[in-house]
Amino acid sequence: MEKGKKVYEGKAKVVFETQDPDKYILYFKDSATAFDGLKKAEVSGKGVLNNKISSLIFEILEKNGIKTHYIERISDNEMLVWKADRLLVEVVVRNVAAGSICKRLGFKEGEVFDPPLVEFFYKSDELHDPLICVEHIKLMNLATEEEVKIMRETALKVNSILSEFFDKNGIKLVDFKLEFGRLPDGSLAVVDEISPDSCRLWDKKTGEKLDKDRFRFELGDLLEGYRKIFERIGG
Ligand code: UDP
Repeated sequence: MEKGKKVYEGKAKVVFETQDPDKYILYFKDSATAFDGLKKAEVSGKGVLNNKISSLIFEILEKNGIKTHYIERISDNEMLVWKADRLLVEVVVRNVAAGSICKRLGFKEGEVFDPPLVEFFYKSDELHDPLICVEHIKLMNLATEEEVKIMRETALKVNSILSEFFDKNGIKLVDFKLEFGRLPDGSLAVVDEISPDSCRLWDKKTGEKLDKDRFRFELGDLLEGYRKIFERIGG
């Protein structure tokens, strides 16, 4: 499958058309960004790792009955996906307190959320992705009530599948972000990527942070963490 016209370029990926009007190619870049794009760096090799980790995770989800946009990994840096109309909502699931919820509500990092917490954010660079509630989603027409229900249920199911998967590989799934899109038949699929850029992953034994927090807070070599994750999950 060859790359056609560039459709969109984001901070970490580029989306290309293909000869098939129903399919896109996602190209994973080597750029690392954090804090709303204020912190930036080129990390050679990050695109390949994120593409490989994300592909592996999508394959696990598909096997477990989760509908995603993933078709196949077509090269080191590229993934073939179904075209989907993205919702402007980010869904975050938290098993353990870390990141923005500590700043926002005063939780101590490491506090356990049982049952896991589901949060919605409005995907808007201009407004810095604010936290929103279901009423906002309805008011702003970001998704239907049924879609909100599906996003919540799917996010929790993804959490169960991935928590168990990472746990058996010695990694704690602390939190993660999902995005959803509408396929041509109107149904929802998990889109974007699921990688150490969008998940917090801690070594189960040592508590070492293996995800993008290494870059956010200068905790150590970013790729070393991503490589450890990839190796542990069977890459
Ligand atoms: N996350 C993401 N993209 C975003 C915001 C958050 O992938 O635009 C991920 C983040 O990596 C973490 C989880 O969602 O795994 C929860 O992020 P949080 O709300 O704590 O925000 P952060 O402090 O990471 O910006």
